[in-house]
Amino acid sequence: IFLQFHRVMASGSAPSDPQVIIIGAGFSGLAAASTLVERGRKNVLVLEAMDRLGGRVYTVRPFGDDTIELGANWIHGQQGNPLYQLAKEQGLLAEEELHIAMCSPGCVTLQDYFFNEHGKQLETETAEKVCAYFGSLMRKAFDKDFDLKYSSWNLGDFLDQEFWSSGLSDFTDASRIFEWCKRSECTDEASSSLYDFSLSQLGTYKLLEGGVYNCLGPGGYQAILDILQRTLPLNTVLYNKPVRCIHWLDSPRTGSTSLTHPVRVVCEDGSEFLADHVIVTVSLGYLQDNALTLFDPQLPSRKLKAIARLGFGIVSKIFLEFDYRFWPEDCSGIQLLWDEGLEDKKHGEDWKKVWHKKICGFDEVARHDRVLCGWITGREAEYMENLDEKEVGEVCVRLLRDFTGWKVPSPRRVLRSTWWKNPYIRGSYTYIPVGIDAVKEQEILVEPLPSTQGGEPLQVLFAGEATHSQYYTTTHGAYLSGIREAERILRHY
Ligand SMILES: Cc1cc2nc3c(=O)[nH]c(=O)nc-3n(C[C@H](O)[C@H](O)[C@H](O)COP(=O)(O)OP(=O)(O)OC[C@H]3O[C@@H](n4cnc5c(N)ncnc54)[C@H](O)[C@@H]3O)c2cc1C
Repeated sequence: IFLQFHRVMASGSAPSDPQVIIIGAGFSGLAAASTLVERGRKNVLVLEAMDRLGGRVYTVRPFGDDTIELGANWIHGQQGNPLYQLAKEQGLLAEEELHIAMCSPGCVTLQDYFFNEHGKQLETETAEKVCAYFGSLMRKAFDKDFDLKYSSWNLGDFLDQEFWSSGLSDFTDASRIFEWCKRSECTDEASSSLYDFSLSQLGTYKLLEGGVYNCLGPGGYQAILDILQRTLPLNTVLYNKPVRCIHWLDSPRTGSTSLTHPVRVVCEDGSEFLADHVIVTVSLGYLQDNALTLFDPQLPSRKLKAIARLGFGIVSKIFLEFDYRFWPEDCSGIQLLWDEGLEDKKHGEDWKKVWHKKICGFDEVARHDRVLCGWITGREAEYMENLDEKEVGEVCVRLLRDFTGWKVPSPRRVLRSTWWKNPYIRGSYTYIPVGIDAVKEQEILVEPLPSTQGGEPLQVLFAGEATHSQYYTTTHGAYLSGIREAERILRHY
């Protein structure tokens, strides 16, 4: 493919067989490439900055033969979810008993052990009751049709208001559980704080019917990536090819297809590629950091504003492998309840000393009976990613000992994700901050360039999780966005 590109560059290509460069080999990039190739396009090239496929999907095997997912873990929803369908057809889903959910307000079971910071274990029924109420508030927020006057409202204030006026807040430990629910919800929403998160825009995300937490089989998410990769000719993806700049023409002189290869893509290593169309699938976090230099000429200001206005949150995982299972057989996770509220402003700059208070708890991991996974979000996750892994492990073990009073051994190995530190990702997934109209911003983000009133030259197109107005944050949103942009090019011809 690489050689073919250079050959075609020299001879000029027929408009019916355009050269398409896709930037990024995550789910959106692979879906775009696969769609184009399956529909007979021969000149498709994917430039990937890292040395692997998958982007924010990263299946590893650090603790033996079984997989650990450092990025996406579940397929969210079944009906209408193309990745669930694909995984099902190919026999890639986990067996029923291995569908382990993250412990979140909507999924608390008797196997979830809740401890407060004084070492007291709570009745799970109490936790269940508060969590169920929290779930009903989230559904209320989700289903309510807010008009624009609510655009400055945040989810945190709404939840507080409802909770403190309910009889539930009188129960002992109820407020601690409620605070835990809010911390846990930050993981789902990838927001540092629910007080930054838009209440009115919550319902723009569409939940698909069927189980929310569908797990993959022994091959993990990587098995789906492998299937997509097999649809592509050998060497369609070039690895270790970070793109430095996309040179496009903001005012093409003639009609939509008469200019051949109007876009020049320059990589960090100096290599250059010409294309008729470039599909940019890099994360919103990467765009927030690099949009000003990644495009020449610069992106239109409305697009730059949309990139800045949408939120890109940080969610990190901490895996602890122990020599033996110290927690009871019937315990699927240990949840930590703090006295203080999540958003307690008292900490000021001192939050760094108590970064660990953002860890919701430690859940068991499918197929690993000696491994626990902790979740952390926001600035505390960012801070954690910069600490030494050993120190992170020590802090986690101290928490587990203090809360449970159990004899917790030191971990044999610690592995944490570093999505924020990764220069090609810069966070985890999109969230909708207070004060914006999500659909409008996403529409602007998706608009192909250059914007012309007449034809659609489609030099630069945009895909990726953040560009899907209903399924942002997810792998299926990313996948569908890649197909959307590939089909836009196919329609053009
Ligand atoms: C911790 C975590 C947990 C998650 N859990 C789930 C989950 O359970 N279920 C779910 O559905 N989703 C989950 N997600 C979200 C999901 O992983 C993403 O929405 C999805 O994978 C995004 O795919 P993408 O193709 O849009 O972007 P990416 O996967 O980010 O792909 C973009 C690619 O572009 C590359 N790139 C960046 N800059 C350049 C450049 N200059 N030149 C060339 N290449 C470049 C990157 O290296 C990357 O490979 C999770 C994400 C994280 C981080």
